[in-house]
Amino acid sequence: KKLGVNEIRSLFLDFFKEKDHLIVSSYPLVPENDKSLLLINAGMAPLKPYFAGLEEPPNKRMATCQKCIRTGDIENVGKTARHATFFEMLGNFSFGDYFKTESILWGWEFATEYLKMPIDKLWASVYHEDDEAYDIWNKKVGLPPEKIVRLGKEDNFWEIGLGPCGPCSEIYYDRGEKYGCDSADCKPGCECDRYIEFWNHVFTQFDKDEAGNYNLLPNPNIDTGMGLERVACIMQDVDSIYDIDTMSYILKKVCEELGIKYKENVKNDISICIITDHIRSISFLISDGVIPSNEGRGYVLRRLLRRAARHGKLLGKNDLFLYKLVDAVIDMFGDAYEELKEKKSYIKKVIEVEEERFQETINQGLEILNGYILDMEKSDEINLSGEKAFKLYDTFGFPLELTKEILQEKGMDLKEDSFQEEMAKQRSRARSARTDVDTKGWKEDVLASINKDLQSNFIGYEETETKTTV
Ligand code: ATP
Ligand code: MG
Ligand code: MG
Ligand code: MG
Repeated sequence: KKLGVNEIRSLFLDFFKEKDHLIVSSYPLVPENDKSLLLINAGMAPLKPYFAGLEEPPNKRMATCQKCIRTGDIENVGKTARHATFFEMLGNFSFGDYFKTESILWGWEFATEYLKMPIDKLWASVYHEDDEAYDIWNKKVGLPPEKIVRLGKEDNFWEIGLGPCGPCSEIYYDRGEKYGCDSADCKPGCECDRYIEFWNHVFTQFDKDEAGNYNLLPNPNIDTGMGLERVACIMQDVDSIYDIDTMSYILKKVCEELGIKYKENVKNDISICIITDHIRSISFLISDGVIPSNEGRGYVLRRLLRRAARHGKLLGKNDLFLYKLVDAVIDMFGDAYEELKEKKSYIKKVIEVEEERFQETINQGLEILNGYILDMEKSDEINLSGEKAFKLYDTFGFPLELTKEILQEKGMDLKEDSFQEEMAKQRSRARSARTDVDTKGWKEDVLASINKDLQSNFIGYEETETKTTV
């Protein structure tokens, strides 16, 4: 019997509990007391104060299964086998306690003895200057040199600005030639889906100072991250993370709801994966208190929701469908994440209201955009003007990225600078009219359409929201 997502999650946490780690449940997707980050994007993110030494951790060893959002991967959804915008990251952490040797040896032990991955399929990467990690892989684990790849700073060095940073070492699984590319140099680190990176071990051993020096930290840390969906994809021996037990259950409901079939047509499959992925992100975001808006994380939510709605339309769906898929997400994740179950009707209602709102303008907006595209084709124009993109945004509720995506499907693009100028103009108009764009209509509207009982589920994270336009 193949291991399911829920089983792998428990197996991981139990393994590290045995190794004296404190297990805590996932932190919310909305960062607490961290203005530098819009949404949690890695297991280590909510633990930053412990890594930076600003707070004392409850235990020197911890492990979590953390909910993560990475909108940077949005374009990859449905195109690569391994990317989602929402995913669960399994991680073990050491705050000045154990270091490289334990981290790598336990990673190997978990992969080969608990997950029972065949040794001949496993590869490792190290930072090109990190001979210490190389030797651990080679001498302690016994991995032959040809299966240890040295990668550069881009792949295998973790740093954000100044402060704690260090080299990484990743574990890859070779899924075989059928997933490979034509490159003669196809090996771990290649962008194709043959060698799938599933576990990253970060060794925070330096402190980068103002002068750019990397000073050795007296108590180096360990921060690892393993994508639960990717491990499941390997363990269940399926083509992509959209075919694992949990995701394929949601995907089937998507197909049922839309009355179409999966794996019949590549273009449709991308749309199906996008809807499957986005409905999961959307449900989790709302359960953590985010509501659609034109700014910050509310905009991330709106963008995901409207993108999913448009892909539904591409598949021929003309009425509301997204809110109906929430049940499938809860069927799969409600036991591991109680907040989904508790807020079920609230999540559905928020989605329904936002979907309905977009439904009112999407057809008209698409018609107008198609008109623009025809005009551009006639005049050999490649880039849509900022004013037009702004009109679609302001009047028809098209997130900029959505307009861009539609244009790119036709080999076109848009003038982002002039769009931003229009945005700035609108902001200053709003300022002089003494109305607040941030709250204009949307936030109140969405909440107003939700009855009072359900509203109590809105926790009000918005107050701490970073005022960044995405
Ligand atoms: P990739 O190179 O494949 O994009 P990454 O190097 O960006 O992955 P890390 O930042 O090292 O990923 O994150 C740690 C782990 O989290 C990865 O090894 C992978 O298992 C998982 N992971 C990262 N991004 C995603 C994603 N978008 N969807 C699913 N899992 C992911
Ligand atoms: Mg990545
Ligand atoms: Mg990588
Ligand atoms: Mg990585």
